[in-house]
Amino acid sequence: MIDLLVRGGCVVTPAGVVKAGCDVAVDGGRIVALGRADQPARRTVDASSMLVLPGLVDAHVHLGCSSWDAVTPNDWYHGTAAAAVGGVTTVVDFATQTRGRLMMEAVDAWRSRADPDAVIDYGLHLSITDASSATLDEISRVVDYGIPTFKMFTIYRSHGIMLEDDQILEVCRRVHECGGLPGVHAENAPIAERNYARFAAKGLWQPHYHALAKPDYVEAEAINRVLFLARVASAPLYIYHLSTALGLELVRRARAAGQAVLAETCTHYLTLSADCLDRPDGVNYICSPPLRSVADQRALWQALSDGAVALVSTDEAGYNAADKARALGGPLEAIPNGLPGVELRLPVLYTQGVEGGRLSLERFVELNCTNPARVCGLYPRKGVIAPGSDADLIVIDPGRRVRLGADTQHMPVDWCAYDGLEVAGYPQYTVARGQVIVDDYVFCGARGRGEFVPGRLDWSGLSSLGLTDPRKADGPAA
Ligand SMILES: [Zn+2]
Repeated sequence: MIDLLVRGGCVVTPAGVVKAGCDVAVDGGRIVALGRADQPARRTVDASSMLVLPGLVDAHVHLGCSSWDAVTPNDWYHGTAAAAVGGVTTVVDFATQTRGRLMMEAVDAWRSRADPDAVIDYGLHLSITDASSATLDEISRVVDYGIPTFKMFTIYRSHGIMLEDDQILEVCRRVHECGGLPGVHAENAPIAERNYARFAAKGLWQPHYHALAKPDYVEAEAINRVLFLARVASAPLYIYHLSTALGLELVRRARAAGQAVLAETCTHYLTLSADCLDRPDGVNYICSPPLRSVADQRALWQALSDGAVALVSTDEAGYNAADKARALGGPLEAIPNGLPGVELRLPVLYTQGVEGGRLSLERFVELNCTNPARVCGLYPRKGVIAPGSDADLIVIDPGRRVRLGADTQHMPVDWCAYDGLEVAGYPQYTVARGQVIVDDYVFCGARGRGEFVPGRLDWSGLSSLGLTDPRKADGPAA
């Protein structure tokens, strides 16, 4: 007797879509068989006329985020519970180093908040905020611990997390030597700071000016610079939340020249534009990089289908409207940045991508499940329906539609970035390590059942994303 049989669905596997009538057999938290499995099971979920996909992996979330003197309501419990309702079975957050302190202190702090509360499994990136010799020496320990991905900020000077160019070069070198993957939040700080000061001097506090303070070249210049530094270091590079056609062009050029770089974009850069900032609730839509033009959106969708962008995440950091509004009328940099979205990537992108004819179901799974798992070193345990992998999967009735709003979403945030949008794709069942944690659309997972999953990068697997290990591509490192 096995634990669970998901019977007769249309299953997306690494080999493609198994059209219909495919069973997924689950036992001991793992997938044990695919195809026709006539085993008796303790629980059977009827998936006939349903889609069965891997649970989504969100490679970029900030849960219980407390920058800007406010805390996001999506803490580790509520955020991961809402994520599960939205079909997400793994999130990857950012342990952020306090400058001058050990990185492992940040890891311990993040784990002590996540472990008691996480409903789904999680991994971590490390946001690295200095390049002292102590920090550089600690990188190998962090990689060995199971955190192979490091994020550097080229902006947020006043938050004490920005790195200078020499530090970025050093970190790229050392992370690469240790077998990790350096990454960047790319925005040019001096230009943005000058623009903010210019608008402040004229009393231009409206959200509209947030996008004008950080036009597309602010992102593209920083991408260009860090691409060059990574090249000098012979290091691969992960570009977080790419938002512009101009930045994308640089990524394309670097990839065409053989540089090991991959890019992520987010749900909101594909589906919302800077016009949102001009709405009465425009302050809610302040995030960094800012929302862009419809032409940028079009370029990003194209990049999703042709492979220039490898994954989609949410950059979940949803502050309540009240916290955003409180900062209105003062400096634009003081307004909490970020959008709530960890629950909504699946329905929004399924609807606009798969139903909208822009993405095949297979490509949707690569972008939202498989590739995020690869980039975070969680594949093949996560991100795929295959024997031996964790039984993280979702069952979707593609005909069921929901109108999104603050009242229909499960995230305890008091506004919805997609208010009024009609979507399909919410899963009827979410299975995480073999447990049904969303049962007929109702969340029933236990607080704290989620576990930390150590990440180990598999460079041969990453080569399918154009991220060949430069040590091998270039021969012996200089
Ligand atoms: Zn982020």
